[in-house]
Amino acid sequence: MGILLERFTWKVDVQKYLKDLLEDRGARALRDYHARRKPRPCGITVHPATGCLYRCVYCYVADMGFREFKPYPLTGLEIALALASNPYIAPGPVGSLAAFGSVTEPLLKTIRGKTLEYIECIAKTIKLSCQISTKEYITREFASAIRRLDNGLSILVTIVSIDRYIDLEPLAPNPKLRLESISNFSSEGLHTVLFLRPAIPGISDKEAYDIISTALDHGARGVIVGSLRVTSSIMDKLRVVGVDIEFNRSRLRGGIQITVSRDTKDRIVRIAREVGATVYPSACSANVEAHGEACIICPYGPCGSLDKIPEISESDIRELLESIMLKTRYIEVGERSIVIGFDKEARIPDWVKYFIEAVSRRMVCIRRVSS
Ligand code: SF4
Ligand code: SF4
Repeated sequence: MGILLERFTWKVDVQKYLKDLLEDRGARALRDYHARRKPRPCGITVHPATGCLYRCVYCYVADMGFREFKPYPLTGLEIALALASNPYIAPGPVGSLAAFGSVTEPLLKTIRGKTLEYIECIAKTIKLSCQISTKEYITREFASAIRRLDNGLSILVTIVSIDRYIDLEPLAPNPKLRLESISNFSSEGLHTVLFLRPAIPGISDKEAYDIISTALDHGARGVIVGSLRVTSSIMDKLRVVGVDIEFNRSRLRGGIQITVSRDTKDRIVRIAREVGATVYPSACSANVEAHGEACIICPYGPCGSLDKIPEISESDIRELLESIMLKTRYIEVGERSIVIGFDKEARIPDWVKYFIEAVSRRMVCIRRVSS
């Protein structure tokens, strides 16, 4: 059996195992939106809570509708079942990526037990390559406990300013404590990267040299730099703390997020290179390296080592598609991409592209061919 069908079959087996284990409780996992959502570029986002207690001024979580902090109701096994039932997800290792921290701080004291439970259950069942982004202070003991659950876990520690953190992140732990977190995670052997996102114009760029070089001294493997995204309310909050961004506000309607000040990001990337830091093009890139994997799905790649890109053949792809009753007109497997041609009238579920991309780690293009 080829790698794609083998993964698909294993996913069905994991679902069955978890459904049997959970009995009636499986129903709410199957209804949950982790069982339906498409992965984002960084992977499938996993939410141990929605909303956050820290209220950073640049945070867009409230504008996404998560105004109250609420621990997520699912247990670890239920989240594993939801993910195993999501058609877009391919089980690992070298499957779909998973990211904790998109709509909450996943290591807040009140939910860190739940986050650990989720990581453990994912590692024991569907084996996705997981990543956590955090601003928390983490002790060496806690870092060790996390490593024991998943020793390939990718860690991102966010610092966007040391001098102005009180203005920008009034309730979050002091960045000096976050530098200690970098030391503690790294000392435990966890792949730890500085997350300099969002880059705040006039602040993060001025401090970038110090932040990056200090993070490297504390054991960070490199840095990810990300642009600031604003909504109307974020612009207002930033102005109150003295960050005034030149921008045509008429483009901001409702809770829409717009990326601004890309030049700030570019400046920081140049500084990072001067400091000698590895600059990861994106969070998924650090996750792939942390797990000793590789990926060439997008033009930012290759990430990881090219020799780790999975071997995949035309017959592997045909075998999977035939098992779900899909007939192809042609399949081309290139070094960096896969093209699959189907009849124009054929109904192709959109998870097919995501699933094959996650396992092959190449870009998949679906083409339609007239009869
Ligand atoms: S820690 Fe993250 S999720 Fe929480 S308020 Fe700050 S930016 Fe938002
Ligand atoms: S090639 Fe790199 S940046 Fe692009 S999706 Fe893959 S891991 Fe992410």
